[in-house]
Amino acid sequence: MLNINAIAPEELNLESKFKFRCYPGISCYKSCCKNIDIMLTPYDIMRLKRRFNMSSGEFLMKYTYVFIEPRSGYPFVFLNKNDDNEKTCPFLCEKGCSVYEDRPATCRYYPIGQASLKKFDLTDGITEEHYFFVKEPHCKGFDEEKEWTIAEWRKDQGVDLYDDMNKGWRELFFTRNLKAEKLDEKKQKAFYTACYDIDAFRRFVFESKFLNIFDVSEERIKKMKEDEEELMNFAFDYVKFLLMVKETLKLKNK
Ligand code: SF4
Ligand code: SF4
Repeated sequence: MLNINAIAPEELNLESKFKFRCYPGISCYKSCCKNIDIMLTPYDIMRLKRRFNMSSGEFLMKYTYVFIEPRSGYPFVFLNKNDDNEKTCPFLCEKGCSVYEDRPATCRYYPIGQASLKKFDLTDGITEEHYFFVKEPHCKGFDEEKEWTIAEWRKDQGVDLYDDMNKGWRELFFTRNLKAEKLDEKKQKAFYTACYDIDAFRRFVFESKFLNIFDVSEERIKKMKEDEEELMNFAFDYVKFLLMVKETLKLKNK
């Protein structure tokens, strides 16, 4: 979980400036990759399972655990930690991050945190984002001289692509505070499969009666077959429909 004590009480926007630099050789190098709970987004899982040439199911089984938020019943996926004294990330190696090019969104954001709650509604989704610093005592990067705006940091770390890919899931994430009822087990399972286990979701769509029930255009079906990211966007629409967040899909006329 995010260390609440490390959140600097200052609301930031894309133009906010800060000084920070992280590099191999800094005294705290790799200390942020220990004893940390990293929540994985759907696109994180997609990138990592491709990197390891695994199915999403294999990746989830080997590297993750599920946390069901008690109030909403929404399922979230977290990266396992190694069973050592320092509870290191499983992807930490001698030189640093062994999956650097495909590291999760949380690692890309760090030391910035994101708070979008203020400008979110079911019609328009996330329309304005706010940020905050995560200033942990062990992180010496803030003592460095390199200056950034939040926008420059996001670009440098490749965060924009991840946020874009996860847009539908991030919208779902914020609906958990708006729903009065907790998800039942059936919906939890459907949410989990659609958002995190994309290979199982593909089988569900193409190897069940799904396409006899839902009215999906030939063009969208073709795109989903050719492009896994398209399938992921469709999965987010399916969960929004299932949770009655938005009428994102249509049923076929009987
Ligand atoms: S994925 Fe990489 S950057 Fe993120 S905690 Fe693990 S080793 Fe560190
Ligand atoms: S603790 Fe901060 S400066 Fe040190 S390696 Fe991690 S992100 Fe970089």
